[in-house]
Amino acid sequence: MKEAKISVIIPVFNEELNIGTLYARIKDVFVKFDVNHELIFVIDNSRDASLKIIKELAIKDPSVKYIDFSRNFGHQVAVSAGLEYCSGEYVVIIDADLQDPPELIIDMYEKINKGFDVVYAKRRSRKDRSVVKKAAYKLFYKILAAISQIEIPLDTGDFRMMKKNVVDELLKMQESNKFLRGQIAWLGFNQTYVEYDRDVRAAGEPGYTYYKLFRLALDGIISFSNMPLRVATIMGFFVFLLSLIIIL
Ligand code: UDP
Ligand code: MG
Repeated sequence: MKEAKISVIIPVFNEELNIGTLYARIKDVFVKFDVNHELIFVIDNSRDASLKIIKELAIKDPSVKYIDFSRNFGHQVAVSAGLEYCSGEYVVIIDADLQDPPELIIDMYEKINKGFDVVYAKRRSRKDRSVVKKAAYKLFYKILAAISQIEIPLDTGDFRMMKKNVVDELLKMQESNKFLRGQIAWLGFNQTYVEYDRDVRAAGEPGYTYYKLFRLALDGIISFSNMPLRVATIMGFFVFLLSLIIIL
């Protein structure tokens, strides 16, 4: 019976080589378990044929919808636009490069219906990143855990399923610099996880450059800890003291 609807949000930045396979694999998932669904592609101003491919899919398949950005706003903004636009009782966020296996949606759906509001995907292992990126990620999560007031689950990205009530609360948060996985942890609710092995990107180049990752890390730290603010205050005080001494 088709009682519920699942919205799948897919941020896309230059993913022309992956969209076909991704679409086929997601559709396979929905063949296996018969629920209503919509696929919302948010095209973060791709410079390749991503938009064209998705437009063609949308003509053939009414469950395919898309948003086309006027410029590259970044992954977190793309996901947020999808969240605003979606209409399902269940919402999935998934990367377009097949690093997040769509088949896990089935496990998430089973688990969320055992009394949870959020089921995030936790990486058992990951082959995706360079040694430097892995080390940087570890360090970032260590810093965040040490200084933030809330507990953000380790080894998770934004790949997850949420119920609509969580999405509604998330959308009320007017953060201009978004760090969704942290915001969702902050919201509370009943959260759990399913584990998976994270694959390498299927094709194409990562859209998250070192600079974009650094910005995301900074947004995470600034949004979830008042440590930077305290450091600034203390530094201001020292500068004040120093000036006083110099004046005297
Ligand atoms: N992405 C996006 N805008 C960007 C960078 C990336 O929408 O500016 C999308 C990208 O197409 C993919 C997801 O966000 O679906 C994750 O990006 P990527 O695979 O480059 O990140 P990584 O896996 O290295 O964290
Ligand atoms: Mg990726």
